[in-house]
Amino acid sequence: MKWIRRVCFGGMCLLMLAKSADAADPDRVLLLHSFGPDFSPWNTITPPFREALRKLAPNPIDLYEASLQAERFGKSPAREEGPFIDYLNALMPDRKPRLIVAMGAPVTRFVLRNRARLFPSSPLLIATSDVRTYEDLALTANDTACPTIYDPTVHIDHLLRLLPDTDHIVVAMTGASATEQFWNDLFQRALQRSSRRVTLEWFTHLAADDMVKRVAALPAHSAIFYPTIRVDGRGVPQEGDALLLRFIEEDRAPIFTHTDSLFGHGIVGGPMFSSHEMADACAKVAVRLLNGETPGDIKIVPVGLAAPRYDWRQLQKWGIKDSLLPPGSEIFFREPTVWERYSWQIALTLAVILAQTGLISAMLSERRRRQLAEVQSRQRMAELARVMRFSTAGELTALIAHEINQPLGAILTNAETAQAILKSPSPDIAELNEIVVDILRDDRRANEVIRRMRSLLTKAPFELKSLDLNEVARETIEFLSAIGRQVGLVSVITPDALPIIGDRIQLQQVILNLVANGIDAMKDTSTENRIVSMRTSRVEKFAELSVSDLGSGIPEDKLKEVFEPFFTSKAEGMGMGLSIARTIIEAHNGQIWAENQARGGAVFHIRLPLATLPD
Ligand code: ADP
Repeated sequence: MKWIRRVCFGGMCLLMLAKSADAADPDRVLLLHSFGPDFSPWNTITPPFREALRKLAPNPIDLYEASLQAERFGKSPAREEGPFIDYLNALMPDRKPRLIVAMGAPVTRFVLRNRARLFPSSPLLIATSDVRTYEDLALTANDTACPTIYDPTVHIDHLLRLLPDTDHIVVAMTGASATEQFWNDLFQRALQRSSRRVTLEWFTHLAADDMVKRVAALPAHSAIFYPTIRVDGRGVPQEGDALLLRFIEEDRAPIFTHTDSLFGHGIVGGPMFSSHEMADACAKVAVRLLNGETPGDIKIVPVGLAAPRYDWRQLQKWGIKDSLLPPGSEIFFREPTVWERYSWQIALTLAVILAQTGLISAMLSERRRRQLAEVQSRQRMAELARVMRFSTAGELTALIAHEINQPLGAILTNAETAQAILKSPSPDIAELNEIVVDILRDDRRANEVIRRMRSLLTKAPFELKSLDLNEVARETIEFLSAIGRQVGLVSVITPDALPIIGDRIQLQQVILNLVANGIDAMKDTSTENRIVSMRTSRVEKFAELSVSDLGSGIPEDKLKEVFEPFFTSKAEGMGMGLSIARTIIEAHNGQIWAENQARGGAVFHIRLPLATLPD
């Protein structure tokens, strides 16, 4: 049994060794470039290819890269390919690559020409070359491809579909290298049909600078189709996309390309080869080869143009309508609308504006409601005030009756006297004349009482006018003098003008009410002390009027209460006079208050704002 153990142990060791050798030995891949690693379109295909290969490969990748620089030296590449073959063999002296990848047509043709001397037992992957570029060369059973195929007329037809007014198209390609010559011929043949519709300008023999000058001078309704330029008309290699970028900078005409390397950097877009799609397709085939599939068994599926893609900014710039784009198009780089960019800020602002509008309209309607209510309350106040005037008039009826009766009595006596004189045989004309004068005076006096009573009771709307408070006071005193003499009325009117804005009748009513209250308060006062004093003055920015009496005064705790509606201490009182007075004064933006005097009796003050300050 010992030998079995020994065999098993030996086998395990061998397995372990094989395993550790596998782990230490990554898959060697030889990546061959046509011009150099930085030529279009491979400069945008190779990086994603490397990445995808490393990601998908079963083992770590040991990548060797070499460029067939010879192709860039014009139409006749060095026929002496031997040293380059030796160099590649020298690159891997004792180990052959697990896979050779030929990137682009020039290097593909080189490898196929020299396949027998270039690791013939290693599988070859022809990547991203159009099938037409190598169809004259035979593939071995160890070769496969992930090629491209397309029809150049697609681009011109597409361009004219988007920009139907175009009458001049630059085909930016040269014939300066062998491959470019191949493509130039192919394009010229393919686009013959298009040249009947538009003028095609070929850059076949132009130096890079001359191409840029031509682009700068392009007439209106021109467009540029840029397949790729690797070597210019003078044989100068053009690395990367530098020349295309110079065309873009000129900004003279819309530019269309056949690969998407500068998509998003100033080209319009359309159906293009996608660098990533090509890189992925080739990486997948490469991985199958690394996994041991026989190259000859892998079905060759050419990669075509990707679904059309457009740069929205370019569509806007050249006035290309979305409706003209082919079905299945995708638009990129669409600039967000102001709404998309600032949606929440706009929404917030709108919300604030709406809220403000709502608030303002609510405030306005509230203001309107208040104004209406104010007007209504003023009307009611005016009506109530009128009722109160009637009431005051009622209270004054006895005085009025007395005042009217007196002149009427005098008139009667005088008339009877005149009658008696007239009956005498020789009437005294002079005396009769005096009697008539007396009758007329008494009549006027009675009339005056009635006139003033009427004016007090007129139904007038609340009306603010420029007044002098002194005038209002004087008129009220005159009225009171006309209707009654039972109470002494003392008035001290300031010589200063007291201009105010107010309603004459209502202010008169307030003063009258204060005087009437003063008279009431002095019912029990001795006749000689029944004096109501009225005084006007200017206090700072106010016109002031006070009415005082020598009556009973007001209990201290009632000084404010007397202005409340229905507060009365009188048997027949209504308790509305002072309440209405306060409403009237407040409607004039003024103040009214009561005090007791040290010498006895009450004093009522009214303060109204002066309209303009006297000089
Ligand atoms: P009314 O005269 O119908 O009672 P007012 O509102 O004019 O209604 O007056 C309310 C009350 O204020 C009076 O009943 C009285 O008690 C008191 N009052 C008003 N003026 C005076 C005054 N000059 N002296 C004393 N009390 C007064």
